[in-house]
Amino acid sequence: MGFTPVILRLTGISTKAVQRLSTSGASTAVATAGARLATACSSARSVTRKEQIPIVFDRCYSSSSCYSTISLGVGHHGVDKHDDRSSSSCNLSERGSVAGYHVNPSSSMRAVVFRESSKPVSLEYLQIPRPKSGEVLIKTKACGVCHSDLHVIKGEIPFSAPCVIGHEITGEVVEHGPLTDRKITDRFPIGSHVVGAFIMPCGSCFYCSKGHDDLCEDFFAYNRAKGTLYDGETRLFLHGSREPVYMYSMGGLAEYCIVPANALANLPSSLPYTESAILGCAVFTAYGAMTHAAEVRPGDSIAVVGIGGVGSSCLQIARAFGASDIIAVDIHDEKLQKAKVLGATRTVNAIKEDAVEKIKEITGGMGVDIAVEALGKPKTFLQCLQSVRDGGKAVMIGLAKAGSTGEIDINRLVRRKIKVIGSYGARARQDLPKIVRLAETGVFNLDTVVSQKYKFDEAVRAFQDLDQGKIVSRAVIEID
Ligand SMILES: [Zn+2]
Ligand SMILES: [Zn+2]
Repeated sequence: MGFTPVILRLTGISTKAVQRLSTSGASTAVATAGARLATACSSARSVTRKEQIPIVFDRCYSSSSCYSTISLGVGHHGVDKHDDRSSSSCNLSERGSVAGYHVNPSSSMRAVVFRESSKPVSLEYLQIPRPKSGEVLIKTKACGVCHSDLHVIKGEIPFSAPCVIGHEITGEVVEHGPLTDRKITDRFPIGSHVVGAFIMPCGSCFYCSKGHDDLCEDFFAYNRAKGTLYDGETRLFLHGSREPVYMYSMGGLAEYCIVPANALANLPSSLPYTESAILGCAVFTAYGAMTHAAEVRPGDSIAVVGIGGVGSSCLQIARAFGASDIIAVDIHDEKLQKAKVLGATRTVNAIKEDAVEKIKEITGGMGVDIAVEALGKPKTFLQCLQSVRDGGKAVMIGLAKAGSTGEIDINRLVRRKIKVIGSYGARARQDLPKIVRLAETGVFNLDTVVSQKYKFDEAVRAFQDLDQGKIVSRAVIEID
C-alpha cells in the first residue's frame, strides 16, 4: 500500500464534520500512513458543501504515475483534481465520483510566470506543488519585488524558462514532505509563520558543511543553473498540461511555494507578513555584506552607493553595528531623504556632485573604511573602489547584466592593499534567525524600508514600476 501520511491542515472545521471524519478513521492531527485516502474520500462525499473543511490529503503514492490528491476547503485553493496520468490501479481513480472536489477548478494556484524577455510576466495557473522530504509547502503571504527578478525578466541574467519568479517570501506552513525529519516538523509546525531566504542551502555540500551556506554548491548548480531543487527536478507544473515550470529560488510569487527547511526561519507573531518578506533578500543580502564581507566594526566609516531595498538595508545594519560615518550615495533626492531616516549621517547626490571627491572630503581626504556597491554597474563599481581608503574594503553586492566587467587600478590595488570582496547573500541557517531577531527587537525597522505594497494581480505593474525607478526603497506584493 502506498499512501503517505495524510492530514495537513485543519482549521475552521465544524464539529459535525470532525465527527464524520473521526468515524472514518482520520484524526485531527495526523492521519497515519495508510489512512486510506479512499476512506477519506468516502467521508468527503458525505460532507456537504456547506461543511467544507480546509483539509488536504497528501498525494497518492500507490503508483509513480498517480498524482491524486484530495482536498476540501473554503478559502483554500488546495483542491487538486485527479490527474490525467493517474494509474488505473489507483484507488482514487473514480474520476468524478467526488466531483466538485477532485475536479475542482480551484485546485490550481496562481503564479507569476516569466516565459521570455520580450514579453511581460503573466499570472498563470499551476498545480499546487508537492513537497519532498525536508521541504515545506508554504501558503505564501507576501513576496518582495527585487531587482534580481527584474534582471531575469529583462533577459539580463539567463534563467531556465518558463519559471516562477519571486524569492523573498513570508507565509504559513501548510505541509511537510513525507519522511521529513521530526526536528524540522517540530521547528516549523503546521500553521506556523515563516520567512524564507533566497539562498536555500542544501545543508550537506562542502561549503554548507563548513557553515558557508551562502556558497552552497547545490543551490548554484541546481537552482541558479537549472531552476530546480537539489534532486534536479522542479516542483512546479502548469495546471492541466503538467508542463514543467522552473523555480527562481522557491518561485515565491505564487499562492503556494516549496522551500527546503534549511532556508526557513520562524517569524514571530509580532512581525507582519508583508513587511517581513524583505528579510529574506534585501535585509539578508545587507546583513551578509555587513557581517561576512565588510566585517563592520564600531567606528567604521561606510559609503553605500545605490539606496534601493538592499542599499537602504545596509544603512540600517551599518548603524546597528556601530558605524560612525554612514554616507548614502544615490542620484534621487527622494531616496537620499529617506536614507537619513535609515541611518545615513551624510548624503551625496552623484548627479549634482562628484561622489568620490565628496566622500574623500567628508573623510578628511582618506576615503571610507568600507564602500558598498549595491547597483551592479561598472561606473559605480569603479566609484566604490576609488572611495575606499588605503587598506579599505570595497564590497560588491549589486548583480550586473551577465558578462559585465569592472575596472580596477591594479597598481593602487596592489600597493595600497585594497580589498575587493563580493557578497551575494547571507548564511540562512545561522543568520536568518538573527535577522528576524533584529526586526523583532526594532533594531531593524522594516516599515521604513517597505515603501509600496501591491496586490497579487498587480504584480506585472510592480515590476514595471521597479524598472522605471518608481520604487523608492522596496515594494512588496501581498498574496492572499
Ligand atoms: Zn532579491
Ligand atoms: Zn550546500
